[in-house]
Amino acid sequence: MNSILHEIPTMNPGKAPVRPHWLTGPCPPWCEAEHEARDARDDRRHMAYTGWVQLSLYDAAESVVEGEYQPETLGVAIEQHVENAAPTVILYQEDDDVRLTLAEAEQLRDRLNWVLEAAR
Ligand SMILES: [Zn+2]
Repeated sequence: MNSILHEIPTMNPGKAPVRPHWLTGPCPPWCEAEHEARDARDDRRHMAYTGWVQLSLYDAAESVVEGEYQPETLGVAIEQHVENAAPTVILYQEDDDVRLTLAEAEQLRDRLNWVLEAAR
């Protein structure tokens, strides 16, 4: 898989982007995070939100605007701390999340495929 360096904020406009000192290599191709030198050590993560599924079997959730409601969603994201060798797949709903290794995400995909094929 080819890695590309996406646009990273720079302190020298007009010149090539400067990587933060803690980012020793290019971002993985899926990373959509903007990294900065001031990022705390725990925040030094490659990140991408890949979308979400609207959940029709749940009650609507109250939004940040009091009295307004929106459908519940299940989000899918991928992240990788710069010190980790592999990314983590994250399923999240509101403040809860489930974190999966790539192998576990593949197992989940296989189980979902089995269920969908059996049910249709
Ligand atoms: Zn990145």
